[in-house]
Amino acid sequence: MAIIDESNISIDVLPGYDGRISVLRLDKVHPVISGNKWYKLRYNIDAAKAQGCDGVTTFGGPHSNHLIATAAAAADAGLESVGIVRSRGWVNDKTTTLQQCEAYGMALIFVNKEAYDINADDSLTRNLQQNTEAYIIPEGGANAEGRRGAGEIMSLIPEGYRHICVSVGSGTTLAGMAAALPAGVQLHGYAPMKGGVYLTDEVKPFIPQDAQWNITDAYHFGGFGKCTDELIAFMNDMYSQHGLPLDVVYTAKMLYGVLEDLEAGKFGNDERVLCIHTGGLQGNAAIYHRLLF
Ligand SMILES: *Cc1c(COP(=O)(O)O)cnc(C)c1O
Repeated sequence: MAIIDESNISIDVLPGYDGRISVLRLDKVHPVISGNKWYKLRYNIDAAKAQGCDGVTTFGGPHSNHLIATAAAAADAGLESVGIVRSRGWVNDKTTTLQQCEAYGMALIFVNKEAYDINADDSLTRNLQQNTEAYIIPEGGANAEGRRGAGEIMSLIPEGYRHICVSVGSGTTLAGMAAALPAGVQLHGYAPMKGGVYLTDEVKPFIPQDAQWNITDAYHFGGFGKCTDELIAFMNDMYSQHGLPLDVVYTAKMLYGVLEDLEAGKFGNDERVLCIHTGGLQGNAAIYHRLLF
C-alpha cells in the first residue's frame, strides 16, 4: 500500500527518566490508517483481494480508529467497504470519525447495541458471510491475519529493550507481538477499560506458553473512552515538553501507567523500556478544545 510510509517511523527517547523510556512512533505511518491499525489490516486486505472479494465489511463504534482505518485502507486498495456501527440507532448521529469514513466511500449501517452485541457469538458475522460477497474483518481486526500483521511490529524494534509496553483494546496487537517476542523480552499490556484484565484469557490461546507478558487495567481513568482532567493535563505536558502527541483513549493512559510503573519499580533498576505509540490521534476530535495540539 503506497500511502503508508514506514520510513517516517522513529524511536524517540523521552527526555528525563535517565533515558530509560523510548517511544516507537507508529502514529507517523499515516494520519488515518495510523499506528497498529495498518499492521492489523494489511493481511486482511491482501486476503480480501486474494479471495476475489469486491469489498470488506467490518465493525466498530462511532469513534472507532479501526473503522476509519479500514475505510481508508480499503479505498486505497480499490475495495468497497461497509461499516457496521454500534450506535444509538440514529442514522443522523454522525461523529467526525463516521463522516470521514463516508468520505472514504464506506457505507455505514447503524445497529443498536443489542443487535451489535449479538455479534459476540458470531451470529451476525455468519449471517453476513452467507449473504454478502464481502470479506468480513472482525471488530478490531481480531483474527489470524490481524495478529500476523501485528507481529511484524516486532521487526521494527532493535535489540536492547528489556520491556515493551503497548495499549490493549481487543488484544490483537498484543497477541501478535507476543507471538514474535524474543527470549528475555517482556511485553506489558495496558488496558484502557475497567476490568480490562479479562482480556488476558481472551488472548492467551494465541500466545506461546514461554512468552513473558501481562495485562493491567490499573490505568483506566474511569473506563473506556472516559478521561479525567489529570489525564488531559498529562497529554498537554507530554506535548508541550516533549512534542509527543498522545490519543486520549489508548496511548495517553498507557504512557501515564508506564511512568507510574517505572517509579514503582516494575521495570527493574536500569532496564530500558520501549512504549508503542499505536496512533489513534483522530480520536482526540471530541476533546480538541482542551488540548494544546
Ligand atoms: C485500536 C487501538 C489499540 C488497541 O489495539 P488492539 O489490537 O485492538 O488491542 C491501541 N491503541 C490505539 C491508538 C488504537 O487505535
